[in-house]
Amino acid sequence: MGRRVDRLCGLLFSAFGLGLVACGGAGPEASGAAPTRVTPPKRDGADPAKVVEIKEPAPAVDAEAPPVRKDGTIYAESELMGTRFSINLWLDPGRDAADGGAAVREAIAEVDRIEGLASEWIAESELSRFNAAAGGEPIALSPDLFAILQRSTVIAEATSGAFDPTFFAIGDLWSFKPGATPPTQEAIDARLPLVDWRGIELDAAGRGRLRDVGMKVGLGAIAKGYAVDRASALLRGRGFTNHIVEGGGDTFVSGSKGERAWMVGIQRPDGPGTIGALSLENRALVTSGGYQRYFEHDGKRYAHIIDPRTGWPLDEADSAISVSIVADDATDADAYCTAVAVMGPERGMAFVESQPALEAVIIERSGEISLSSGLRERFVPAPPGR
Ligand code: ADP
Ligand code: MG
Repeated sequence: MGRRVDRLCGLLFSAFGLGLVACGGAGPEASGAAPTRVTPPKRDGADPAKVVEIKEPAPAVDAEAPPVRKDGTIYAESELMGTRFSINLWLDPGRDAADGGAAVREAIAEVDRIEGLASEWIAESELSRFNAAAGGEPIALSPDLFAILQRSTVIAEATSGAFDPTFFAIGDLWSFKPGATPPTQEAIDARLPLVDWRGIELDAAGRGRLRDVGMKVGLGAIAKGYAVDRASALLRGRGFTNHIVEGGGDTFVSGSKGERAWMVGIQRPDGPGTIGALSLENRALVTSGGYQRYFEHDGKRYAHIIDPRTGWPLDEADSAISVSIVADDATDADAYCTAVAVMGPERGMAFVESQPALEAVIIERSGEISLSSGLRERFVPAPPGR
């Protein structure tokens, strides 16, 4: 006992915390005519972020309520958005496990709902309809898609276009499966003029359009963070303020675990274990690294983040091995994480230092770990040999 599978989104409640590790998922591969719903492939390699605290299995409770572990938490996970989402909910004393389980189920359904509207890989998603209407009249947008697009334009401007969701006009020319080859420079050049976040036009009536025919938005660097934030907001709305929601390396830490702060570890890029941990409360931590998904061509490795100025993926030689961003919410942390990766370690860290709401942990190619000034007191390095 101790494990229970729920039909909704393959939700799995578990008394065993060992699985409380993000299993990263990059955007799915583009595949010609879009099928109804593509299940994005998982990345190879290490998981980007890991919640470190969980150890003890606990006896299962009853058939209706999910198992509660000895440390007072309920844990559940589900495959969504091409990756694994997990929720770790601390049950305040006196709260009913069945209520906690119901809230977790709703939170997972919320992630599923966001995926259904904001995925560029689902042919009938609202985002796909928005993309298909590019160059035409503005269309009415749901509050969620409007909010994601609006935040995207703010972050694109703040990062001088290092994060730019309109990269997707070119992004969908690229496949990052092992053995893939780059598109031709001509094909990239032909689409480069379509990459311009200023072409995302939103109006006060909640409508939006893409300025030019052929423009396309991909939300792979922000929708997962938004979904994490929505799931966390839902749990708070049900009175469960103390929890961690995590999806493929995007984590939001809400409240605390009773008397203690939640600790979130940062995955080693080169193997199992963590480089260290941060205690966080009401903050997001998002980790992204090229080591998770890339292909090699002519002796070069290309990771799945694209430099919107060139239309080419980041060159491994001058990018960080991994970037982690701490921000007020996972939506911001997710998008800024990609932007800082595009900027490269040096410019990226300088940018983070210029933004009071952001902190960063950057692992450079040399193995050197750089911390932004606001983290130096809060980062707890893992003991050597771990
Ligand atoms: P992860 O999938 O590990 O969370 P990121 O958050 O960095 O990684 O997002 C990478 C994804 O973002 C890519 O798979 C792609 O969908 C999208 N993307 C790639 N380059 C950019 C960019 N310059 N701006 C915005 N989105 C991008
Ligand atoms: Mg991300």
